Amino acid sequence: MNDWPNTIARPTIAAMSTYSARGASGDALHLDANESPYAPPPMKGADNYNRYPAQQPPALMARLAGLYGVDEARIMLGRGADEAIDILLRTFCDAGKDAVLICPPTFGYFKTAAQIQGANIIEVPLNDDFTWDKDAMLAAAPKAKLIFLCSPNNPTGNIIEADLLEKLCNTCPDSLIVVDEAYQEFSSADGYVGRLGEFRNLVITRTLSKAYGLAGVRAGVALADPAVIALMRKVLPPYPVPRPVEKAVTAALSPAAMSLHAARLTETLSERERLEGVLAQSKFVSDVFPSEANFIAFTSSNAEAMLRALQAYNVCIRDFRSKLPGLFRISIGSPSENDIALAAFGVGKAEQVVPRIAEIQRTTKETDISVRVELDKSAPIEIDTGLGFFDHMLEALAKHGGFSLRLKCAGDLHIDAHHTVEDCALALGEALKMALGDKAGIGRFGFVMPMDETQARVAIDLSGRPSMTFKGTFPSDHVGAFPAEMCPHFFESLAQTLGAAIQIDVDGDNTHHIIEASFKGVARALRPAFSRSYGDAVPSTKGVL
Ligand SMILES: *Cc1c(COP(=O)(O)O)cnc(C)c1O
Repeated sequence: MNDWPNTIARPTIAAMSTYSARGASGDALHLDANESPYAPPPMKGADNYNRYPAQQPPALMARLAGLYGVDEARIMLGRGADEAIDILLRTFCDAGKDAVLICPPTFGYFKTAAQIQGANIIEVPLNDDFTWDKDAMLAAAPKAKLIFLCSPNNPTGNIIEADLLEKLCNTCPDSLIVVDEAYQEFSSADGYVGRLGEFRNLVITRTLSKAYGLAGVRAGVALADPAVIALMRKVLPPYPVPRPVEKAVTAALSPAAMSLHAARLTETLSERERLEGVLAQSKFVSDVFPSEANFIAFTSSNAEAMLRALQAYNVCIRDFRSKLPGLFRISIGSPSENDIALAAFGVGKAEQVVPRIAEIQRTTKETDISVRVELDKSAPIEIDTGLGFFDHMLEALAKHGGFSLRLKCAGDLHIDAHHTVEDCALALGEALKMALGDKAGIGRFGFVMPMDETQARVAIDLSGRPSMTFKGTFPSDHVGAFPAEMCPHFFESLAQTLGAAIQIDVDGDNTHHIIEASFKGVARALRPAFSRSYGDAVPSTKGVL
């Protein structure tokens, strides 16, 4: 038993030696892999594209270890969770001999991968209420090499009970209990990654396709005991993580990007709640099942009429009637996409007002910034630039401007505040401009007068033509780590990307108050300028802004 998991692997895999892809490493002159010495055209951005990558690229593996909270030795990274499933089959199931256990309706690729490998398939269907059939599973499980569970389950959206999973792990030492957690990020319950140390026969699959928006990039992992991972890496192809994939995943998991993901997750969860409620009112829908994922399962008693209505709106949902009578699955889209879907279900609002939302991700050598603005909502406001006073000013700008702002910046503050302040202003201006869209119905102009004992006189025109004038002097040159001269520079950069004329005239005796009055004054002037209470027309005699 010391030799576990070789004892449960296909004998061929246990016995074979690992394919050796490349001998030399590091900064050596590489004449060992018959690669081209030339970067492919266009050479710009082709970082080492002419060189084979590592099977498991070290920098990305370190990032994933952080993301999932496990050692790198417990991770196999491949082309999606799909590849992890395929590798499990090819490592542990001999054709015609070994079996897998699946619980339909569930993720279809478990069965497909088993069929391709020629493994036997034991099916223990879910109960009518979509819970797992515990007794039947525990009876069948010892006969299966791989027990595929999906939690939250696709397509039903529910999660597995911990005691069933524990029992399977404890009573089937010669099986691997595979929990596919492709939708774990959307669940309110803890997943099972934290319990890998407890059960050496537990395998978890996770994906970057769903919560991190990388379905087109192909990246996902198996997380398991290091000995299981070592066996799986023997079967994994030599170069499953292309360099452009590593680049895209690394960018999508930057600190600033993580804050965008968090904002999107919040939005998806609130949209899920909205859809669950509103869908239930549709004449096409019988039962809506509670979901812990980014989709909702429901049954329709009037499927043909529903599908015709959806087709009229060009909306496509997933039909599972071949698995269970009347069963369908709808993915949670963006708020405006969901509005279209609900209209097709006959439960939409008569008139849709498109919410003004924009996201910017801007990464340079100096700063990594994400911005999300929602002009028609006043919360949340979450700012983190690493500069306390600047956070405070941006909070004031959003609060008094009446818009929701999430801004995260990881900048080169060890040099100084300049890049952080300037780049945040540029990214914020760009996001606000994008959210304003065609500017139909907005106020365009904003004016404000006094603030505190300090006076800030601010005028704003969202004309599309950038300009900025700042009249004022600062008694001291810093507030905390924030250089006073960056205050006018912030508004100059903001005006540039927002396409606004901003005029500020401020006087007072205290630098903190002068800067604060400037930010609040601009915010108060932006509020009526952004306000969409002027009908549909673009506020210009030219008809465009
Ligand atoms: C979408 C999905 C996958 C596929 O993940 P990739 O990483 O894109 O291959 C795996 N498992 C389940 C349950 C899924 O729904």
